[in-house]
Amino acid sequence: MSRFVSAVRINNIGTPTDVVRLFHFTAAVTSRRSCCDKFSKIFGLRRRTFCGNYAKRMRQVLTLVICLIASHAGADAAADAMNAVAEQYAHLVLALGQHDPDYVDAFYGPAEWKTQAEKEKKSLDAIGAEAAELSATLAKTPDAAMSGDEMLKLRREYLQKQISPLAARVRMLKGEKLKFDDESRALYDAVAPTFPDSHFIQIIAQLEAKIPGKGPSRTGDSLWQRYEMWRKPFVIPKEKLDTVFQLAIKECRARTLAHVALPPNESFTVEYVTNKPWGGYNWFKGNFHSVIQVNTDLPIYIDRAVDLAAHEGYPGHHVYNSLLEKNLVRDRGWMEFSVYALFSPQSLVAEGTANFGRDVAFPNKNERMKFEKEVLFPAAGIDVSRADEYYAVQDLMKDLNYAVNEAARRLINGQIDENAAAHWLQKYAVMEPARAQQRVKFIQRYRSYVINYNLGEDMVRRYIENRSGADPEKRWSEFGKLLASPRLPSGLTTNGHE
Ligand SMILES: [Zn+2]
Repeated sequence: MSRFVSAVRINNIGTPTDVVRLFHFTAAVTSRRSCCDKFSKIFGLRRRTFCGNYAKRMRQVLTLVICLIASHAGADAAADAMNAVAEQYAHLVLALGQHDPDYVDAFYGPAEWKTQAEKEKKSLDAIGAEAAELSATLAKTPDAAMSGDEMLKLRREYLQKQISPLAARVRMLKGEKLKFDDESRALYDAVAPTFPDSHFIQIIAQLEAKIPGKGPSRTGDSLWQRYEMWRKPFVIPKEKLDTVFQLAIKECRARTLAHVALPPNESFTVEYVTNKPWGGYNWFKGNFHSVIQVNTDLPIYIDRAVDLAAHEGYPGHHVYNSLLEKNLVRDRGWMEFSVYALFSPQSLVAEGTANFGRDVAFPNKNERMKFEKEVLFPAAGIDVSRADEYYAVQDLMKDLNYAVNEAARRLINGQIDENAAAHWLQKYAVMEPARAQQRVKFIQRYRSYVINYNLGEDMVRRYIENRSGADPEKRWSEFGKLLASPRLPSGLTTNGHE
């Protein structure tokens, strides 16, 4: 009943509570409309044969109406129950955010929900107990997925898969120590493959041949030293960084807009920051707005401009968050998406789509390089004649990115300390000491989150390519669908071969 009362207030939306009510009202109207369509279809068929045994026909119609009333009530009850679980989940994420400043990555639901979490400051024990209860409630919640709407099925799975990592994070904050793979399974619904040192040694041997200079045995110079010397000319000068980055964003945005319908008022601002353990960060503020921060502690190389623009902006995090807000929070009233728990399976999809987004925006390397050579290299004042040579090395460097997972696994499992982890990264990920130390700081703070980048990208790539093959248009449409859906990591593998 309350949803029809709030309908009167549609023209008077002012407070976040009104907005929430409006969401629920819209969702209910949508489900009702589709049921009515079904009814008129069935009734229309009956009407054409409506002759002869009048009493029998009337009984059939009456039965049909009763069934439809029951199914209306059933669908509404299921939707209401699911909305209640979803809101409770959002409250729990906000409550846990009181104990873990990194946990709530974004929240743009009703402001009083956040105030309530701050006032109540629930204990970790209480949050853990409520998460267990909520999981049990969800298991008993009627399933509305019979409607054939895949999104309802995905929503249920999403809530199931997001609540249990919340409980795992509570246990971690209470002091439970998990091994790296157990932690990533508990928090991100995935386990990264393990690579032996020999895997990286074989890639490094190929790099050795491409980087000029003498090997370590003859001069004492490590590969990372030679690599740093060799790639110095490809640093974007600090004073040109914003120009180059804005050009990269403009191109990525135009390519995204040609394929994905974005809310007309979507926007972002860029800030340059220092003293952070990450290279770039997207802070989604709601109302389709992001603040993108770029860390300038270390030199930024020319290939990173498109990487960052696609990852943080288009079609990466900014687009993912904007589409979730539009399609799930605003159109359907699914409030669980108004909050983003960083240490949760959603992050694997977020980071995976953000990384893979570059290859969706630029379906092949030639196309990307053409843009970079014609636009970004000149804007940065970098000599374009060595671009091919530079990118051949970057391809090999990308093959080393699982080395970060190995350093993280060993560090988290207590096999090595932070100094050893930094040295390991210098040798096996060919990182200069400052970069290796920045990465170790990231690992210490975000732990098994590192798998979300490389494993996430690989999982998203497989999922999209299984569905789209080499067709760039289909790739965009599958990618857009994934960005606007509640799909989680296990849903990328189990449903990836349909
Ligand atoms: Zn990211």
